[in-house]
Amino acid sequence: MTEPKRTTSAERLSNFSPGPAVLPVEVIEQIQAELLTLPGVGSSILEISHRSPAFDRILEETVAELRGLLGIGDSHDILFLQGGASLQFSMVPMNLLRGSGRTGDYVVTGTWGATAIKEARKEGQVHVAWDGAATRHDRLPPAADVRLSADPAYVHVTSNETIQGVQWQVDPDFGPAPLVCDASSDFLSRPLDMSRYGLLYACAQKNAGIAGVTVVVIRRDLLDRSPDGLPAMLDYRTHATNGSRANTPPVFAIYVLGLVCRWVRTAMGGLEGMARHNAAKAKVLYDVLDASEGFYAGHAQPECRSKMNVTFRLPSEELEKAFVTGAVRRGLVDLKGHRSVGGIRASIYNAMPMAGVESLRDHMLEFRAAHARSGPAGQSGAASSPARDG
Ligand SMILES: *Cc1c(COP(=O)(O)O)cnc(C)c1O
Repeated sequence: MTEPKRTTSAERLSNFSPGPAVLPVEVIEQIQAELLTLPGVGSSILEISHRSPAFDRILEETVAELRGLLGIGDSHDILFLQGGASLQFSMVPMNLLRGSGRTGDYVVTGTWGATAIKEARKEGQVHVAWDGAATRHDRLPPAADVRLSADPAYVHVTSNETIQGVQWQVDPDFGPAPLVCDASSDFLSRPLDMSRYGLLYACAQKNAGIAGVTVVVIRRDLLDRSPDGLPAMLDYRTHATNGSRANTPPVFAIYVLGLVCRWVRTAMGGLEGMARHNAAKAKVLYDVLDASEGFYAGHAQPECRSKMNVTFRLPSEELEKAFVTGAVRRGLVDLKGHRSVGGIRASIYNAMPMAGVESLRDHMLEFRAAHARSGPAGQSGAASSPARDG
């Protein structure tokens, strides 16, 4: 092997990637310190059995950290699954819809919700309770516009649409049907009223760790709804019965998830502290948007702006390219928006420090000062021209 090249945290860039995304430096440093051997174990976390006492402890601690952060007792099970959030698009309807004779209701506020419903259609009857496609998923539905079916098996929402940057500001409430929530891109970013949720799922690699593990929090009574005959690994009961070890779980990813949970609790003041920190970061960027006289045109309507993914357009694609290139020169990376929305997307998850957000703010202010009057966009109004949409 070649001589390993040692790097330091001073070399780290400000990573605005939508996922996999930035991790807390303290967490990476702890991983680094413990990587050769877990303290007192004599083997690396990368090497130990998922049935070893060392991993028993890690799994138990991670579940306990999550229970503490989410404020849940025995009402819900916490499962660690693989296949990403994308597999939950199938597992949810397989377990809760298939053979139920009922309808799965979907509130579609962006790309991920639309992807979820596509998979659900393969499993049973679905109903679109609301879809924001007509305004390019830039908003949440007014409560009165959500039309549920008569007795839905569940109502599915996406708490934060990662691509559009549209986020439910409070826990949704659609009555007695179990609420199923894809919380992949805002999990652990703020307190949740878990009594509202029948099932909440989140891949870890946006806000809670690394790719490889997906957290499923499921109300225990819903486990009785899974039809018999499902493939064992796609049946929630298999994982609940076996404590997430029906087969080999992603040991390292669960370990990292546990470290991130502990960081949220001990360094960030729990989910309340985390929410305050995230709100303060998001405000820094949205204040720049709002003071830019349309130079930076936010995609999401102000009242449903995401505190995790800040999406906006510049007056032209040329300026957007120049913005991204200039940002890279300052060490601000992965700011290009998703191709379906275009423009810029700054993902500022839990682990993005305020200093990174402030660097981006400075770039935005300086870039606007340099370009606001040079392009066609200098004239106000150009920023919302429909010609740029798409
Ligand atoms: C990233 C993301 C997904 C997809 O997650 P995978 O782990 O890649 O399957 C699903 N939903 C939301 C809201 C996401 O942000």
